[in-house]
Amino acid sequence: MIRRTKIVTTLGPASSNAKILERMIRAGVDVVRINFSHGTREQHIEFVELTRSLARKAGRTVGVLADLQGPKIRVGKFEHGKIRLEVGDEFILDAFCELGNQERVGLDYKELPNDLEAGAILMLDDGRIVLSVTSVKEHQVFCVVEQGGVLSNNKGINRKGGGLGAPALTSKDLEDIKIAAEFGADYLAVSFVRSGDDIRQARALMQEAGGKGMIMAKIERSEAILALEDILEASDAIMVARGDLAVEVGDAAVPALQKRMIRSARMSNKVVVTATQMMESMITNPIPTRAEVSDVANAVLDGTDAVMLSAESAAGEYPVEAVEAMARVCLEAEKEYLVNTDRRITTISQATIEEAIARATMFTASGLQIRAIAALTQSGVTALLMSRRSSKVPIFALSPNEETRRRVTLFRGVYPVDFDVGLSDPEEILNRAEQELLNRGVVRHGDIMVMTIGEPVGKSGGTNTMKIIRVGEWRSRQGIVDA
Ligand code: PGA
Ligand code: MN
Repeated sequence: MIRRTKIVTTLGPASSNAKILERMIRAGVDVVRINFSHGTREQHIEFVELTRSLARKAGRTVGVLADLQGPKIRVGKFEHGKIRLEVGDEFILDAFCELGNQERVGLDYKELPNDLEAGAILMLDDGRIVLSVTSVKEHQVFCVVEQGGVLSNNKGINRKGGGLGAPALTSKDLEDIKIAAEFGADYLAVSFVRSGDDIRQARALMQEAGGKGMIMAKIERSEAILALEDILEASDAIMVARGDLAVEVGDAAVPALQKRMIRSARMSNKVVVTATQMMESMITNPIPTRAEVSDVANAVLDGTDAVMLSAESAAGEYPVEAVEAMARVCLEAEKEYLVNTDRRITTISQATIEEAIARATMFTASGLQIRAIAALTQSGVTALLMSRRSSKVPIFALSPNEETRRRVTLFRGVYPVDFDVGLSDPEEILNRAEQELLNRGVVRHGDIMVMTIGEPVGKSGGTNTMKIIRVGEWRSRQGIVDA
């Protein structure tokens, strides 16, 4: 069995060693995440080059996801690095404060006081500390501590229920988009997206910088839930970014939202990644907890394209084991019959010719005993559309285009294959495609497989043909005997 759910791993100090990264890739990493919240341009480029060369060595294709920092609002630094806040203490967030103390602390986002009023609830350090706003006077936000704890330098601030006005793209993000375009990111993730417009702006900037990456919206603000439809329409992919989302909407609301987001993404023909704390305890332990195993498995059963590792692979002690554990859990969960078998397949209208072909293929695959699907594709769109339907049949995206092959690494159940269409005639191409899957041991003589192709071949254009093939038939007809 081939694992269908893809694994995204965040790179960081724990995975910067070539030997470790190579082991991670061999253990099943499909996409690496470059986190612009940490590190320099040179480090990012080095990571991308190292990943690509190790992937080549391992005979695999690994995609690159560049994740922008976005307007994560943070407190400033403290005189002594940290303070301790007790319930009932008064505390001031002061846009003009240089160095914090027991009474007040500075802010990196100077506009914050304008977005707040008495009664607002602020969550600091992922909700570990809770402040309620008693009044706002010009650049100062007066608060009383509702939940105390240690507050150290540069911890994040979220507002419960959302409503902080900071635009999704900061000046740092604008520079980082250029870097992402430079190293050829296959996906660009935009943090703290509020609306489809944020995504459209990011896409325009990426294109302006010469980048070809797909645009991923991180859903981590209350506003983004309300605007989900608009955001999905504007993006190619979304991330269920549970870290910040849980702080804004309350942790208990996240599991149901995860299911809704995964369903909506798939129905809109978009890709979805489930992220944050999936294997959190593996930062310091070689095995996951039962709850973490369940979390990864449930994301798989929800229909996510990919599961993601953050600190586990970037800064943890067991990055290789974390990838192995994820792979093992995904594979096992996929044995269970998937939840969203598509009953609408015969009733829903099809928007495009490619979609009609994709649906017909998946309908066929659910009826006949199809061993594999070979989608000959320039852009990868046909493979994407097919993979939006739940199925156990592997979809091989045969493409001469390297960017396409790197992009499909994130699609559930889709595997990239380097395939040069060349100048051969359609019959010859299909035979070669069949041979390619035979060589990989994916199909055997006598198996039934489906191929999709855009005819006339050679011209770029949409897929319009689906062919059901009995493997080896043309060869036996021509009297060819395999060695
Ligand atoms: P982050 O995004 O790791 O960049 O904060 C993911 C999340 O918020 O869950
Ligand atoms: Mn986040």
